[in-house]
Amino acid sequence: MHATIQKPFREILEMLEGENRVFIVGCGNCARKCQSGGEPEVAAMKERLEKAGKTVSGTFVPDGTCSLTEVSGLVKDNQVAIDEAESMLVLACGQGVHTVVDATGKITHPGCNTIFGGETLKPGDVREYCQLCGECIIDAYGGLCPLTLCAKGLLNGACGGSKDGKCEVDPERDCGWNLIYERLRAIGKLDALYQYKEPKDYRKATRSRRLTVTDGVAVFRFDGNTYSPYELQQEEVGASK
Ligand code: SF4
Ligand code: SF4
Repeated sequence: MHATIQKPFREILEMLEGENRVFIVGCGNCARKCQSGGEPEVAAMKERLEKAGKTVSGTFVPDGTCSLTEVSGLVKDNQVAIDEAESMLVLACGQGVHTVVDATGKITHPGCNTIFGGETLKPGDVREYCQLCGECIIDAYGGLCPLTLCAKGLLNGACGGSKDGKCEVDPERDCGWNLIYERLRAIGKLDALYQYKEPKDYRKATRSRRLTVTDGVAVFRFDGNTYSPYELQQEEVGASK
């Protein structure tokens, strides 16, 4: 899920300066779980904006604001109220903001800061375990990500600064390499630590990237290159002939 946190109301008012009529879009998925853009937060934002002298011409909360198909449908259903608004305020992640830009073409403001993609350990507790690098290498680390869990993103072992299992950069967080070591020990794979890990291909992390899936064939486009498991399989079949 995309973790989001609402911007300070003062900042939202600054973005809306000179615009008196606004339409609010929330998100029924990630932002709802983060309590930054679900139905209650959209209702509260409407009330605060109205108290601040703004007119809220309407609101909706899609199941997932990053779906252009869904948002476009809701935009049609609310077209009159959206046409009345000078701008859109989106309580969702940056993907959701872009979807509203695509669906409406209107001035669109982000009401939240998008902070990371994470795992929900329990309601209200979201942790970052992956930074979406485009080339997953964690099999060699017992399923834990050194890029994300180690403050220095080290691929070949600890920096030596860890104390009592905590990171030297932030003593409040566990040392990622301590976690990786314990994990590899628990699954009987400590030998993996003897293998040197080559630097990663960071081109796959170059923004902005694109995924297309057509008739079951997925293609990942990044930095002027493409990667497709299907094409690679075809090459392998060809090579074995
Ligand atoms: S290696 Fe990359 S894709 Fe895999 S968990 Fe780490 S950041 Fe995410
Ligand atoms: S103390 Fe551990 S997590 Fe922190 S930078 Fe060093 S190896 Fe990485």
